[in-house]
Amino acid sequence: MAKSSRLVSGQRQGTVTLSWPSLVGRLNERLVLQLLQRHGPLSRAEVVRVSGLSAPTVSKAVSSLLRAGLVEEEEATETGRGRPAAKVRLARSRVQVLGIAVDADHCWVAAAGLDGVLRCPVRRVTTPASYEELLTVLEAAAREYMVEGIQTLGVGISLPGLVDSRTGRGILSPNVPMTNGHTPAVDLGSRLQLPAVLLQESHALCLAERHYGLARQIEDFAVLDVATGVGLGVMMGGRLFTGHSGLAGEIGHMTVVPQGGRRCGCGNTGCLETVVSDTALAWHASQKLGRLVRGDEVIELARNKLVDLSAELDQMAGYLALAVATVINVFNPAAVFIHTPLVDIEPDLLQRVIWHTQQRTLPPSFAQCQIARAQGTKYQGAIAGIIQALTDAVAPRIT
Ligand SMILES: [Zn+2]
Repeated sequence: MAKSSRLVSGQRQGTVTLSWPSLVGRLNERLVLQLLQRHGPLSRAEVVRVSGLSAPTVSKAVSSLLRAGLVEEEEATETGRGRPAAKVRLARSRVQVLGIAVDADHCWVAAAGLDGVLRCPVRRVTTPASYEELLTVLEAAAREYMVEGIQTLGVGISLPGLVDSRTGRGILSPNVPMTNGHTPAVDLGSRLQLPAVLLQESHALCLAERHYGLARQIEDFAVLDVATGVGLGVMMGGRLFTGHSGLAGEIGHMTVVPQGGRRCGCGNTGCLETVVSDTALAWHASQKLGRLVRGDEVIELARNKLVDLSAELDQMAGYLALAVATVINVFNPAAVFIHTPLVDIEPDLLQRVIWHTQQRTLPPSFAQCQIARAQGTKYQGAIAGIIQALTDAVAPRIT
């Protein structure tokens, strides 16, 4: 367990003093962790086959990871043909990580084993107005999961808006402005005495789709998040594309209405998210109903036909296709996954988006790209993020 505690205390600097043999050993351990995350439980012989490492090397790496508490052995099940080989899996019996998704109206808090499987129902708490209150609410919700007998190894936090990946600082979040200038992972990690990582929410969705959703076998894909705003996460060659300082993916602030567009939270006018988002739909609903409708309220209102927004949704399908077509033309992904509650209102909305996208994408690029609804969630991405950070803390990432 000592290995995971290196995460937030300058472990990258610490690793450069390692001797070469122990560095190789740790790289092997990280490879075993990555294989178990990708394939699920494996016997040592299966790890040898998949990794290409020698049997003694795998045995040594697994023993070290067992001692560290990061993996555990499954009960061997009798097959009736000789002694079955015990499988090794990512630890879940006595260890857990926490995943937190912060959003404009609510935050979600979840606990999972290192295999990403949730331990209990996800908690939803109301997002308070101040940063101090936010930390207090999240600390209380996290502590409900931190029970005796289960060691909590770390916490991942997903945050909307601009997040500087170099400093872990929220820079500009129009929808959760109380986090601007703050370091929620450092502050909450300090309160809980846990290693912690902060992820921009679109990047979190990419990790969720990669580890627990539809992208488990896909190296090059994008996730478009259409919720309070519009964000983009891109994974190329199995690596997150974050940009110079983590600010990549702000496709929601691409101008799509150059003349007379509505004011966006960023200060500009005519941004994509002023015409495609829960917030944009809520604005239309407010106009029609003559009262203020919140973004988290409009989906239920429209789904229950308490307000007719079919013309507005049709227009949104066209605007959303502009974003999907741009992503396909620019990145040539094998898949674009769309994460949005808007398709809960009209199930054929996704088909209309795909149709419009086809009209606006270069045909060879469109033909190679699958477009589907994302399965992962932001709290799952936060869970995947802290597990990845713990795995990276076992050995440095060689780039
Ligand atoms: Zn904007």
